Amino acid sequence: MILIKLNLIMSRDKIVAGNWKMNNDFNQTQTLILELKKTMQMDVNVMIAPSFTNLSIAKDLLLDSKIEVIAQNMHFSDSGAFTGEVSANMLKSIGIETVILGHSERRKYFKETDDQLKSKVDAAISSSMKIIFCIGEEIVERKNNNHFEIVYDQINNSLFHLDEDSWSRIILAYEPVWAIGTGETATLDQIQEMHLKIRNNISERYTQELANSISILYGGSVKPSNSHDIFSLEDVDGGLIGGASLNANDFNQIINSI
Ligand code: PEP
Repeated sequence: MILIKLNLIMSRDKIVAGNWKMNNDFNQTQTLILELKKTMQMDVNVMIAPSFTNLSIAKDLLLDSKIEVIAQNMHFSDSGAFTGEVSANMLKSIGIETVILGHSERRKYFKETDDQLKSKVDAAISSSMKIIFCIGEEIVERKNNNHFEIVYDQINNSLFHLDEDSWSRIILAYEPVWAIGTGETATLDQIQEMHLKIRNNISERYTQELANSISILYGGSVKPSNSHDIFSLEDVDGGLIGGASLNANDFNQIINSI
């Protein structure tokens, strides 16, 4: 009897997500979405994260499109006395299925800790949401050669309690803080080295198969002039784009470069 071993070729989702941050009012949101809809590539998962106030109109305008509307943040409780916060239930009730958690601006300006992020991750998973979970080191940490340790700790403290099934809801975004909004991109070697390290961390904690299935995005001053080289790296599965996602032409060029 001849045994044929079938190797399943693991193909990870390619994702380009635009984080609009606190930009674009109601009218600007509509204008940018209408421009974006004009050009789209089929094989890439495209996501945009407008502010909370514009999620509904963005959803309405993209009903007939493959672009997914996602949230930039959420609270870890379902409801209650948390003035100014938005829950997973509220997001789900308007059809939002994915949330960005752990962005360095949330960690830095709003003092979000690994522990709070762990609670947010659990809340999102309980609500069957997907998560783009951001990790990345500050410049001093890289200069002190602590960057691998810092990124490992962020993942370990907020995600390594999850069971394997829950990881099907996780997308990672490696965003060195010193490269966000600065115009300074990490080198291709630095990006590939960190992405591979992250994949190895996941493989050591779980399995190689699981590690191979996780999409790891890069974020930090990605623009049309550098996106193709970054997206060509073996362990890079797309990008989380800030500034350049606010310009339809630039964002489309980045999407089409994957
Ligand atoms: C971000 O905020 O996630 C980001 C990557 O920003 P930028 O592309 O502007 O560096």
